[in-house]
Amino acid sequence: VREVRLAARPQGWPTEETFELAEAPLVVEPGHIVVRNQYMSVDPYMRGRMNDAKSYSEPFEVGKVMQGGAVGQVVQSDAEGFEVGDTVLHFAGWRDYAVLHPKQAVKVDPNAAPISTYLGVLGMPGLTAYAGLLRSAEFKEGDTVFVSGAAGAVGQIVGQIAKLKGAKRVIGSAGSADKVKYLTEELGFDAAFNYKDGSVTEQLAQAAPDGIDVYFDNVGGDHLEAALSSLTVHGRVAVCGMISGYNSTEATPAPRNLMQVIGKRLTIRGLLVGDHYDLQPQFVSEVAPLVASGKLRYSETVVEGLENAGKAFLGMLRGENTGKMLVKIAD
Ligand code: NDP
Repeated sequence: VREVRLAARPQGWPTEETFELAEAPLVVEPGHIVVRNQYMSVDPYMRGRMNDAKSYSEPFEVGKVMQGGAVGQVVQSDAEGFEVGDTVLHFAGWRDYAVLHPKQAVKVDPNAAPISTYLGVLGMPGLTAYAGLLRSAEFKEGDTVFVSGAAGAVGQIVGQIAKLKGAKRVIGSAGSADKVKYLTEELGFDAAFNYKDGSVTEQLAQAAPDGIDVYFDNVGGDHLEAALSSLTVHGRVAVCGMISGYNSTEATPAPRNLMQVIGKRLTIRGLLVGDHYDLQPQFVSEVAPLVASGKLRYSETVVEGLENAGKAFLGMLRGENTGKMLVKIAD
């Protein structure tokens, strides 16, 4: 069977040489299940795991298969509670087939929602958006919310949940005119701008003339600096990601206006989705019906074939995705 390994640790931007497609034997262990992977996720945090640095998730090992979220179908089972044909969510992506201990797999219902959504809107990115907005940023009705990376997997959900829960105004930033259009014309954002068109600080100030109460940060850098300028007194920031710095070889400068934190009595709170799985049942019971009824919309960008998984990851870093970036491995 095929698997994708980390060929070398990237310095700065990864390239196609970062990944290696290899053949490996399928070793089936007693008490385990064998899963044919159908979709796998490529996520920004994987860039951090390519570095040999201590972080909140372990580094990938050079020469070893990569890891990440995936959904697939059980094709062989020697484990109680799992039958051939079951659909499961697990963490052994980047390969055609996964051999899993029952504790490493969670059954999901393929009839309740398309299976790919368990990696996106109904999965980790969706929960990140939900917990980050409602808990970390302490969103409340009437807030004006700004989210960066707004057309991505997390961002597209943040903006819509804010709208559905009574935000006064929701503003998004993204990296292309098409994405800006998607946000305002399809997802109901009140305003959006392309951060590549000019100063983020100026574009945000224009989109939010009365300021913002909440900033959901997916990007860092000049986006965070712009948000600090626009935040109102007692404004709140949920720092979810800082993707503008993930491929930097040098430390990124702090926002030059950090001093505004004092006068405005801002709250800036980091967020790790792993801390918020207690909200998972509430999240699913609230969001799944909204998705099913079409009140909450989502996009996916699907790249075909395990052999293109590295390309999909690079494409995600470059912004080639609208919504969740996925790799389809098998039907
Ligand atoms: P996305 O689907 O948003 O994909 C990444 C997007 O980032 C690209 O599509 C691109 O869109 C944008 N981007 C890339 N480089 C830059 C840049 N220099 N400046 C601005 N935008 C850039 O990914 P996710 O939704 O999965 O993740 C979004 C963020 O949330 C990431 O920072 C990620 O690390 C973080 N995250 C954090 C979690 C946590 O627990 N803390 C959990 C999940 C995600 P564009 O065309 O707009 O540039």
